[in-house]
Amino acid sequence: VDKAENKNLSMYREHILELWKHPENYGAMAERTHEARGFNELCGDDIVIQLQVVEGRVKNARFTGTGCALCFASSSMFTEKIKGLGVEDILKMGSQDILRLLEVDIHPARIKCVLLPLETGQKALKGQR
Ligand SMILES: [Zn+2]
Repeated sequence: VDKAENKNLSMYREHILELWKHPENYGAMAERTHEARGFNELCGDDIVIQLQVVEGRVKNARFTGTGCALCFASSSMFTEKIKGLGVEDILKMGSQDILRLLEVDIHPARIKCVLLPLETGQKALKGQR
């Protein structure tokens, strides 16, 4: 790992920590049409994703709950990313889409932390809780 790469990594880590302390889209939403809870028993992350779907598109997305820095960063970025997207497109999203958002290498043991928001959001869109 050269110096520039190192700097990039710590910058991304800072971004993740920042989103943990000040997450985007955190808090309950009265206008929700879909909602699901996701639990990651490996880490203890316990989140609820709330979505407002209007005419097949996500108009607003929020999350609540408790989780580690990776889970919160991923939840923040996921809820931000899916605003305006069609339900079908979100259901097609996979792990690579989320890993690309975070732009940092995730240890395999922590992958569930990062993917929990996507899994929970897709669960909500399928009408599961
Ligand atoms: Zn976690």
